[in-house]
Amino acid sequence: MGISICWLRRDLRIDDNSALFHSLKSGLPVLPVFIFDAEILSGLDSYDKRLIFIYDTIRKLKLLFESAGSTLLVMYGKPEEVFVRLFGQFQIESVFAGIDYEPYSIERDKAIEDLCSHNAAGFHRFHDHVIYAPKQILKPDGKPYHVFTPYSKNWMLRFKSDAETNYPSEDLLDNLLKHPPTEMPDSEALKMVWKQTEFPVSGFNTQLIEKYDKVRDFPALDATTHLGIHLRFGTVSVRKLARLAYRLNQTFLNELIWREFYQMILYHHPEVVTRSFKPVYDNVRWLNREQDFDAWCAGKTGYPLVDAGMRQLTQTGFMHNRVRMITASFLTKHLLIDWRWGEAFFAGHLLDYELASNNGGWQWAASSGCDAVPYFRIFSPARQQQTFDANEQYIRKWLPEYSSAESYLKPIIEHTFARERAIGIFASLNKT
Ligand SMILES: Cc1cc2nc3c(=O)[nH]c(=O)nc-3n(C[C@H](O)[C@H](O)[C@H](O)COP(=O)(O)OP(=O)(O)OC[C@H]3O[C@@H](n4cnc5c(N)ncnc54)[C@H](O)[C@@H]3O)c2cc1C
Repeated sequence: MGISICWLRRDLRIDDNSALFHSLKSGLPVLPVFIFDAEILSGLDSYDKRLIFIYDTIRKLKLLFESAGSTLLVMYGKPEEVFVRLFGQFQIESVFAGIDYEPYSIERDKAIEDLCSHNAAGFHRFHDHVIYAPKQILKPDGKPYHVFTPYSKNWMLRFKSDAETNYPSEDLLDNLLKHPPTEMPDSEALKMVWKQTEFPVSGFNTQLIEKYDKVRDFPALDATTHLGIHLRFGTVSVRKLARLAYRLNQTFLNELIWREFYQMILYHHPEVVTRSFKPVYDNVRWLNREQDFDAWCAGKTGYPLVDAGMRQLTQTGFMHNRVRMITASFLTKHLLIDWRWGEAFFAGHLLDYELASNNGGWQWAASSGCDAVPYFRIFSPARQQQTFDANEQYIRKWLPEYSSAESYLKPIIEHTFARERAIGIFASLNKT
């Protein structure tokens, strides 16, 4: 008998999962599949904590499918090769998956779609990672937005009418293929080093979300949700979170809309992965001094807030949003180091690393991006510290050697000089 495959990727959950829901309604028994993509894994360090997060999540998900009488088939390899094997093993009528908007994934999915059609099977994709797909919120002329505010207004108008969309996949698990439990590749086969690791919880903290607008900017309060990793891998439903945000806090909902805005930009402008959204800024003559970069990475620039942020990142895999903006601005404007260097460093360390948001955040800070900070508005790390960490609680937490501003490491660059230099360089590009 034929089956449907539900290929889980960025939607690693059972509830409100659009691809799983549609597959379970397909009329054929559904076999859920997860592939550890050899291509992606080869670019990761074996100690990468995100691998542990995925591995752990998959293991729990597999148990859930097993308790429903089925399994989650966990494979390792190049997706195309894995699917060739699957087509040999099962009579697959259809493959269902959530859409991934990254350039690599689009290419990968095209290959799988071709393979499906070669095997007379359908390949069906559904929006799940975002509420509105990149082509759903467009300007009246049908072109993508390049400014956040009108995009978010349009997004909100639409959300008001569609807010109840829900895919109760969790109610349809009887339609899974009955299958004995399967083995999962062990961590050695995946070339990963397993270590017991704590991750942010996936529950929604309603009290925090209610007061989000008042507390989110103060890094010492640590009053943001830390849901980034869960949104990245789909271990929570963004639809459920957005519905809650809609009721509780517009500022929080706006941040979820920024996330969709950057997904939309990446989809329509995949060139931003390597180039500036505003091409003129590809002409910045970055200084790219390695010793400055090393000082920034190590949290030893002499600016306590910058240093504390970098230490938080390298020690925990997280950095508070305000501090992300300050450290990114400092690297690109004060040190005149190419935003791509910083972007890559964050990509290697952030647990919540997401190509679209990281690229968007970096290009925002470097002023080269879509709806970015204007080049002449350069953060003063000292002033930011006075405003957002006035009692030095955050910097003291991450800089054990800090006892006073006077005795702290001498800044590697003077603020006024750096600010004027950056403004001069960026302004000259805008004149040409
Ligand atoms: C230089 C730089 C790099 C960044 N890199 C990433 C990244 O790799 N991955 C990532 O998810 N976010 C990134 N951000 C955005 C933001 O800093 C993080 O989403 C946020 O700090 C994550 O913490 P949280 O989960 O507690 O977020 P909360 O403040 O609780 O927000 C909830 C969710 O909304 C989304 N969100 C919040 N703020 C933004 C934003 N400005 N842009 C896009 N989405 C947002 C995230 O999914 C976040 O988890 C970056 C920002 C900057 C300035």
